[in-house]
Amino acid sequence: MTLPHTHADRSWHATETAEAIDVLDSGLQGLSTPESARRIRQYGPNVLEDLRPPSAALVFARQFRSPLIAILLAAATVTLVFREWIDAGVIAFVLLLNASIGFVQERKADAAVRALMEMAVPRARVLRDGREVEVDGRDLVPGDLVLLESGARIPADMRLIRAQALLVDESMLTGESEPVVKHTRALASNLPLGDRGSVAHAGSMVTSGRGAGLVFATGPHTVLGGIAELLRSEPQAATPLQQRMTRLSRLIMFAVLSSCALVFVLGLATGGQVRELLMAAVALAVAAVPEGLPIVLTIALALGVTRMARRNAIVRRLPAVETLGSATVIGSDKTGTLTENRMTVRRIWAAGQVRLPVSVSARSGFGAGVSSPLAQDAATLTLLTGVLTNEAVMQTTTDGVEAQGDPTEIALLLAAAEAGLAPEPQRDAYACIADLPFEPSRRFSAAIRAWNGTEVLFAKGAPERVVDMCDSVLADGAEAPLDVAEANAAARSMAADGLRVLALAVSRGRRSGDPPLDLEEPCGLVLVGLVGLMDPPRKGVREAVAACHSAGVRVVMITGDHALTAGSIATELGITSNSRRTVTGSDLEGMDEDELRSAVSGTDVFARVSPEDKLRIVRALQAHGEVVAVTGDGVNDAPALKSASIGVAMGEGGTDVAREAAEIVLTDDNFVSIVGAIEQGRITFDNVRRATFFLVSTSMATIVALIVTVAAGWPLLMVPAQLLWLNLVTSGLQDVALAFERGDRNVLRKSPRSAREGIMSPLLWQRAAGTSIVRAGGTLALFYWVLEDTGSIATAQTVALTTMVLFSAFQAGNARSEYRSVFTVSLRDNPFLVWATIGTLALHMGALYFPPTQLVLRVEPLPLHYWPIMIAVAAAVLVVVEAEKAVRRRVTHDADSPPDGPSGPGSGRGA
Ligand code: ADP
Ligand code: MG
Repeated sequence: MTLPHTHADRSWHATETAEAIDVLDSGLQGLSTPESARRIRQYGPNVLEDLRPPSAALVFARQFRSPLIAILLAAATVTLVFREWIDAGVIAFVLLLNASIGFVQERKADAAVRALMEMAVPRARVLRDGREVEVDGRDLVPGDLVLLESGARIPADMRLIRAQALLVDESMLTGESEPVVKHTRALASNLPLGDRGSVAHAGSMVTSGRGAGLVFATGPHTVLGGIAELLRSEPQAATPLQQRMTRLSRLIMFAVLSSCALVFVLGLATGGQVRELLMAAVALAVAAVPEGLPIVLTIALALGVTRMARRNAIVRRLPAVETLGSATVIGSDKTGTLTENRMTVRRIWAAGQVRLPVSVSARSGFGAGVSSPLAQDAATLTLLTGVLTNEAVMQTTTDGVEAQGDPTEIALLLAAAEAGLAPEPQRDAYACIADLPFEPSRRFSAAIRAWNGTEVLFAKGAPERVVDMCDSVLADGAEAPLDVAEANAAARSMAADGLRVLALAVSRGRRSGDPPLDLEEPCGLVLVGLVGLMDPPRKGVREAVAACHSAGVRVVMITGDHALTAGSIATELGITSNSRRTVTGSDLEGMDEDELRSAVSGTDVFARVSPEDKLRIVRALQAHGEVVAVTGDGVNDAPALKSASIGVAMGEGGTDVAREAAEIVLTDDNFVSIVGAIEQGRITFDNVRRATFFLVSTSMATIVALIVTVAAGWPLLMVPAQLLWLNLVTSGLQDVALAFERGDRNVLRKSPRSAREGIMSPLLWQRAAGTSIVRAGGTLALFYWVLEDTGSIATAQTVALTTMVLFSAFQAGNARSEYRSVFTVSLRDNPFLVWATIGTLALHMGALYFPPTQLVLRVEPLPLHYWPIMIAVAAAVLVVVEAEKAVRRRVTHDADSPPDGPSGPGSGRGA
């Protein structure tokens, strides 16, 4: 066996297919399973040189980039200059601790996201032991026979041995954006990459057609492997949340610098010492920086990604976690997303009659012996045409019949088989001369097959397409003039019942000498019959649509199916009420952008649309300021997925191209999962908001209290080490716990958050300011009282610190819900917070009694009778916020919802 690089060196495009099979020691049945296992050991997996995560040192260094850290560094420098070793040591320790936690968290989050992306790894269809199987793209080896169809990403470099109308987009390798026609002929050896029509390279995409190729190079030995370095440079963009966080950090830095200046001026004016004032400024800086913020952000986003994955939505790009939460419109496919994509034939219209699927086994005179297909009974020929223009395969295995392929086509095979028309023998009986597989943009499929010395074209597809190709109709065993109105009426009546309708037609037999049959644009056909297929709606979709409506999210169906079928299913699912107008692709064609813009705002169902129309619809919705999530599965859906705010691709039925263009991949293709992801996106944002409010409000409270002590010429309220203890250790635990909140039960009953809204809403800023005054007032009062009572600064500082810690415990309760009373939010929703609060208090008590922490924090045990007083004072912040929430709720007359939200299910915009 030759080594992979020798394979790769060969001019494969100039090698004849037979020779290629020979050299690669393969066959038209593909490799055997043991052989492929042996080769994977020899050649290694089909992966590019691992796109390695950033180095540990880099990630660690990155933790020091924030402006907040710069403030702490400056503070540490000042303490060093004044030889305040303990404070300097504590700040340095905190800096390192912070960086380490940030480092570990970032690494963990990164690993989690990578692991999830792994789940979206492309798969490949190959022949193994002569059977078609789907394998992980990484398991391909040289010699594997890979089957290609439109939408597939080519998984390795391969010599084509079959190509049917195969078009491949090689822009990633050659920069040429027009798809290239592929074939199987051996070419001259000295051709540039872009002209090698008989090979296909890893990284390019099949835009249409079907084909098969023999793998000759995998992983790093492919052309793509050679240029993989070029692909490596795409950095993970900062999410909007991270950008907002940076903006917030700058704001905080500005606040710190100006309050330091203020303290300095105030202090000098009241006759303070420079050294003391500088130390106060250091304390202020340390107090103001919410050290835990970046960590919480990382944790909250990672948690959001994990929770979404548990609900079958895989996040490919991190920003989608938060963008999803502000989605206002979902444009959804019908087949497979809203419905199960499990079709069954329910009705057949043939020879002017509607019937249930019929049995043909008893009929005589059927089969290849019959001189012309048109001598058949119409219903039988309808089923036969469905089989002969069909790519699906049925295999009888030990546990019954197993089918692979497009569900529409599987349904036709099953219907034929049930009627006694076994598909495989029929396909063998009429040899295929040429075929045109189904593509959504073409809306029909066709094949030319040999029939008793003649050639016959069979076609099946959307009635609008196929009926136009016909000039007569088959009425029991004989041709009759086609009554288009009658055929259309039959199709409409099926569609109105929610059935997907296909029309089937055949040509008259062509003898040699007759004009050739045109596969791409058939005409002069005989309409044989119509088939109505049922695809039941998925369970739970109706409820999910209702949930969207109450969440202020509109649901729009965008489908290639018939308007009546679409309308019927949409009505059943509550997407539209019957009276609403359905807009079709041909309506869209006649509209200019303005008309389209006004059309999209009142339309819930778009039918018979092409993927290009989908893109136009998305753009028009966005022009209204909507945040649009759009689903897609085909190759042509990629532009719409990319230009949508959130592209959602199908993990099961979708193509690689669609998955790569999307931000989110649904592992179960289910609409319900999108709604779950939106809910989780909202919860994630809310959790970041809770945690930020909690930290920022603590910082604000300490700043206010510190400024007052300096202005009043009192001793320093707390030393830097104590402030760090408060900000990072005690608050830190609760803060992280807040990121685990399950979310208000009514999170799907609020309007979408405006995409422009900051992390903290105006309401939360007001609340943070208000509680700061309460907390600073309470702390200062106790500080003053203890100072008078005992004359000990250390005792007074310990009381101040402990009071702030207690205040934070109550404030964590306030942070749980923006509008609801904390007493209505179940503790079971967030056990972490309970433990974090208990842990915080235990830790703080411990620190008061433990000599080393006593030394570092300059704290001491407090007399027992102080405790009830401190607790009572700290509880004030809960009372005040509860009262404020109660007033707001009374004003809005609604116990559950924010003032701007809809008041209940069904009142959303879509309803
Ligand atoms: P959807 O948006 O529901 O997935 P498609 O774009 O897949 O719709 O299909 C559009 C139309 O093409 C269908 O209404 C049907 O008439 C026709 N069609 C669908 N699948 C096939 C097929 N396998 N062969 C022939 N025609 C098909
Ligand atoms: Mg489809």
